[in-house]
Amino acid sequence: MVDFQSVLDAIKETTDKAKDRGQIADYIPELANVDMHKFGIHLLDLEQHNFSAGNSNERFSIQSISKVYTLSMAMGLIGEKLWERVDVEPSGDPFNHLSLLELEKGIPRNPLINPGAIVVADILVSLLDHPKEDFLAFVRNIAGDNMIDYDEKIAASEKLTGFHNYAAANLLKSYNNLENDVETVLDFYFHQCSLTMSCAELANTFYMFINNGKCRKNNTFLTKGQVKRINALMLTCGFYDEAGEFAFEVGLPGKSGVGGGIVALLPNKFCVAAWSPGLNDKGNSKLGMLALEKLTTETELSIF
Ligand code: GLU
Repeated sequence: MVDFQSVLDAIKETTDKAKDRGQIADYIPELANVDMHKFGIHLLDLEQHNFSAGNSNERFSIQSISKVYTLSMAMGLIGEKLWERVDVEPSGDPFNHLSLLELEKGIPRNPLINPGAIVVADILVSLLDHPKEDFLAFVRNIAGDNMIDYDEKIAASEKLTGFHNYAAANLLKSYNNLENDVETVLDFYFHQCSLTMSCAELANTFYMFINNGKCRKNNTFLTKGQVKRINALMLTCGFYDEAGEFAFEVGLPGKSGVGGGIVALLPNKFCVAAWSPGLNDKGNSKLGMLALEKLTTETELSIF
């Protein structure tokens, strides 16, 4: 049996000593108000034992990690039809890159880059009666926690500076890959990104990806086949243009966000969330990457 707690404690000690903690994402002005020195990690294993270190119960902006929830909800609602509107190939480009979208006539490369997530948001806006409320209820349900919420200040802050996402949504609209109006879809998208959650809460929601689609309370949200697909997408597309590096260094499927969070998982074994607000130049949490690399190296547990 691996002593996860000792490994997490050792990781926390290493990150405490780090001189270079990366840079906070300030293109969403409200994100810049976070203490750079925060670090948290929480691991939940298949038997539902919890291990943590640092600021693992402090909430932060999950940003792009939310794309995994919208994708899961949309897959649950329309299944394979999703792939008529978004592809499943890694992009090798930054999260908000637009040139491929033009080249490929409005079909985003995958649902975990911004244009793909905006298409998924559009699908949910079309299908749900009260999109923001229904999506929040979905996340609360898989977390088993009714306190999870949007951060209105962060959503408003991104709305003011989200020119790239407006460009992406307008491009999608011009290629007839957006059913609803740009403003409505982006309002939903900025809200999903503004969800604030702790490492512990993130690990709870990702439990279904290690447990064949069943959440901690044993409710089934996804089929085994859907979990296989989402995990595959996380491995190949979950880290912007650093997905190769993450697979190489860490060897787990996962998803990061510009709020400094990373969630990763080993099917049938554990899921883990790490948070440190400073990012590397690819937009992934600098110490979060280091922490997960240490975790899989020390425990010798990875999908490879
Ligand atoms: N809301 C952010 C954006 O669209 C999410 C980016 C991220 O976390 O990768 O720019």
